Amino acid sequence: MECASRDEIIAIQNEKIVKQVKHVYENVAYYRDLMDKAGVKPEDIKSIEDIRKLPFLTKNDLREAYPCGMLAVPMNDCVRIHSTSGTTGKRVVTFYTQHDIDIWEECCARALAAAGGTEEDVCQVCYGYGLFTGGMGLHGGSHKLGSLTLPMSTGNTERQIQFMQDLKSTILCCTPSYAAYIGETVKEMGLTPDDLSLKMGIFGAEPWTEEMRRDIEAKLGIKAYDIYGLTEMCGPGVAFECSEQKGMHINEDHFYAEIIDPETGEPLPDGTVGELVFTSLDREAYPLLRYRTRDLCVLTREKCSCGRNTVKMCKPLGRSDDMLIIRGVNVFPSQIETVLFKEGFPENYRIEVDRVNNTDTLDIFVELPERLFSDTVSSVAMHEKKLAGAIKTMLGINPVVHLVTPKSIERSEGKAVRVIDRRKLH
Ligand code: ADP
Ligand code: ZN
Repeated sequence: MECASRDEIIAIQNEKIVKQVKHVYENVAYYRDLMDKAGVKPEDIKSIEDIRKLPFLTKNDLREAYPCGMLAVPMNDCVRIHSTSGTTGKRVVTFYTQHDIDIWEECCARALAAAGGTEEDVCQVCYGYGLFTGGMGLHGGSHKLGSLTLPMSTGNTERQIQFMQDLKSTILCCTPSYAAYIGETVKEMGLTPDDLSLKMGIFGAEPWTEEMRRDIEAKLGIKAYDIYGLTEMCGPGVAFECSEQKGMHINEDHFYAEIIDPETGEPLPDGTVGELVFTSLDREAYPLLRYRTRDLCVLTREKCSCGRNTVKMCKPLGRSDDMLIIRGVNVFPSQIETVLFKEGFPENYRIEVDRVNNTDTLDIFVELPERLFSDTVSSVAMHEKKLAGAIKTMLGINPVVHLVTPKSIERSEGKAVRVIDRRKLH
């Protein structure tokens, strides 16, 4: 399927979209109203090109329709629910039929296989199990692939490493921030990557930089692959990296991707930054048409050396609502992370923004790397100044950098909390 030609992929999408729009119009009153308001009928959608006529859905729509307003099949036909992590507000609940679960697990199996996983592998899943989609998604994918699956969930890091050694795990699945934490703990336990059998990691569910990738690869002696997804579409596995590791292939037979101008809603051409919009082409229970992810991204359709012909998305550049506006300047936390790694500070960090006397303040707390731990107070102050200068060069605004004791910033076993914006709390 993944190596189907562009024509074949488009033919599948054409067929699926016509059916899906009918299904939604007939069964989801909320979306039917939106279509009626926009003056679009199911008959107007004859091919995937016509998708542009359909109205968008936003997270607010899903919150308004909570819990069952988007459900397109009788509750009886559903076999499971999951919910978003609630990173940006009230959680959204989504429903799955068995068919929906099968598709999702297939997508995760494709991601594992694209990273080189086979039935010979031992796959340790340390994403959270439960309502969060990370654990169950990769778990299902690993089963489908036929790997031995270790359903560890997050937490108890020393036990994770013990199992990794005892069962000779070869694949690690978790958030990149937890992978970095596991890497630190391996070292603390007096072990090296040679004491483990890990070959690769499938890391996603939160933004991470190329610098962080290299750091995790070195700490664990593995190759680290990116995986993208969102609960509203299914969970992880909407897109994944292949051996080329230049962007993530989108499972286009199930999810149709568009990039739009976040201000005007107009579709943008390949290669342009905009908001990523997804349509689930064959989900039965919770089919979303033109769902605005708020993730900023770029799509490309160049030929890939791996042989897949599906469209690729870049690493999300951030969520449109992740962006901080500090003293009028747009700041993405990932820009700060890039500078920290480049300057030799790969440890944990936290960004705090506040407003004092009507001026925004930016404080960056960074843990001291071991090599500087015995330094004098004045040399630490010099490093703080140097780091602040490098960040100023990148962002154009002056931060205050605080180098703090190792391990004093809370670690995350799930999605990392990197930013505290106190301006919202006043
Ligand atoms: P929430 O929106 O509450 O965090 P989810 O757990 O469904 O809910 O998370 C989906 C979001 O996580 C995506 O919209 C995206 O912002 C982020 N995300 C998922 N995978 C990646 C990835 N590989 N890189 C960057 N961000 C990611
Ligand atoms: Zn590829």
